[in-house]
Amino acid sequence: MIECTKRDDLRPMCPHCSTELRNVWYQPLSGIMGRRFIYFCGTCRKVLGISHRKGFWMG
Ligand SMILES: [Zn+2]
Repeated sequence: MIECTKRDDLRPMCPHCSTELRNVWYQPLSGIMGRRFIYFCGTCRKVLGISHRKGFWMG
């Protein structure tokens, strides 16, 4: 088992530009599978991830 610990005193690092993630930007992606969001670094604009909420129509 891996423990999951909440940390508010640290900021995650961007894996691309290795700076602290102070601002994560996102843009909505619309398609037939519902609304998703693409998240990217506010410093280098490289993509960090995409949300995978299938059938999420109301957001
Ligand atoms: Zn970055």
